[in-house]
Amino acid sequence: MRVFIIGAGTMGRGIAEVFASQEAHVWLYDPYETALRQAQALVDKYPNHIALTSTLPDTLPHSVVLEAVPEEMELKRQVLLQLSERIGSDTIVTTNTSALSVHGLAQGLPYRERFLGWHFFNPAPRMPLVEVIPTQMTAPEVTEQSLSLLRSIGKVPVIAPDLPGFIVNRIARPYYVEALRLAERGDISPKVIDKLMEGLGFRMGPFRLMDLIGIDVNHAVTQRVWEGLFYPIRFRPSWLQAQKIAAGRTGRKVGRGFYEYDKRD
Ligand code: NAD
Repeated sequence: MRVFIIGAGTMGRGIAEVFASQEAHVWLYDPYETALRQAQALVDKYPNHIALTSTLPDTLPHSVVLEAVPEEMELKRQVLLQLSERIGSDTIVTTNTSALSVHGLAQGLPYRERFLGWHFFNPAPRMPLVEVIPTQMTAPEVTEQSLSLLRSIGKVPVIAPDLPGFIVNRIARPYYVEALRLAERGDISPKVIDKLMEGLGFRMGPFRLMDLIGIDVNHAVTQRVWEGLFYPIRFRPSWLQAQKIAAGRTGRKVGRGFYEYDKRD
């Protein structure tokens, strides 16, 4: 199987590893040198299965093309439109969006019957769940193919509706938002909140988890869910996250977020 991944960030790299570990041939594309530098360790680990590129080829005769660029509607639409003249007639094109409307992304795409959401979770090699989000334009056989393909690489695909945050990010949102709301008050620290939640049995407290996800990514997802649900107060994004982003403290990927880390990723 040949897979082309657009965006070599946290998710692009994780998903590349998922496919490479199952003997697929993966091309990882990112126009930014720093992202490709970070991805080099993956090529060293899977030299026969992962190749990096900084240019988008003219033809993409791959079974799957997966988009994993930042959570911005216009950027993703631009990237998806660029694929129109490049993909093969059997290629499935997927988006890893966390919370944008898959219908919105599909609008105007000439290949929209072969387009749908595949939402992997972080870290992709360790998390079995993948939400599969077809649109009303997705051909039923493409959804079926997606389910069997994802099962064949050891994942557990679940069909999710194209609603803001799909299933998991919708239900998980209050975990982050309420924790941020408490921390905004200034008299309870992220560390204490994490300790309490981890003591209760959660694998990671909300702040440690936001650092893992990327504070910028988590904030963008909250914004998209909040907008998509017409601004309910319970999903209001936090200024605490906006300040971290402005200060460049976007989490583990840069070595600092709510916590400090010794080395990147
Ligand atoms: P990231 O910021 O780590 O990576 C994004 C990558 O896209 C960067 O390497 C960047 O250089 C690259 N990029 C930017 N513009 C590009 C372009 N025009 N063409 C190709 N590459 C481009 O972000 P991420 O955490 O990997 O998130 C990617 C997507 O996956 C987002 O939609 C996000 O919501 C979703 N997602 C993230 C998580 C998570 O926990 N981080 C989980 C599930 C889904």
